[in-house]
Amino acid sequence: MNEILWAPWRMSYILSSKEKVTGCVFCEKPACADDRAEFIVLRGVSAYAMLNLYPYNNGHLLIAPYQHCASIEDLDASTLTEIMLLSNQSLTVLRQALKPQGFNLGINLGKIAGPASPNTCTCTSCRAGMPTRTTCPSPPVHA
Ligand SMILES: [Zn+2]
Repeated sequence: MNEILWAPWRMSYILSSKEKVTGCVFCEKPACADDRAEFIVLRGVSAYAMLNLYPYNNGHLLIAPYQHCASIEDLDASTLTEIMLLSNQSLTVLRQALKPQGFNLGINLGKIAGPASPNTCTCTSCRAGMPTRTTCPSPPVHA
């Protein structure tokens, strides 16, 4: 059975000019003083987590290092470890808050893998019948 999944909350992103997405997820977002305004929900020493402005599902988080680099291969061991620790902490919080049936946890490497948020770790809650990364256009980072 082919079933078309629908995520209407993403229509404003899909219909918007992609040129409106601004701000570097590594440099500008974490430098902002107002975490709430930037949807930053968790900060570590070398990485942080923020809510996605146009989530695939409720609780769609991006975990990014503060260091702007071309690939995670450029990150040191402590930063890589903290990204996984923040991912783990995010799963715990999302599990308690949303009680999802599962999660998609992945890493966007390169612009084609996550157009506006390359080189970030993503964490998305899942429920049966809900759209997933494989059924939705890629999201932008909160601008
Ligand atoms: Zn940057």
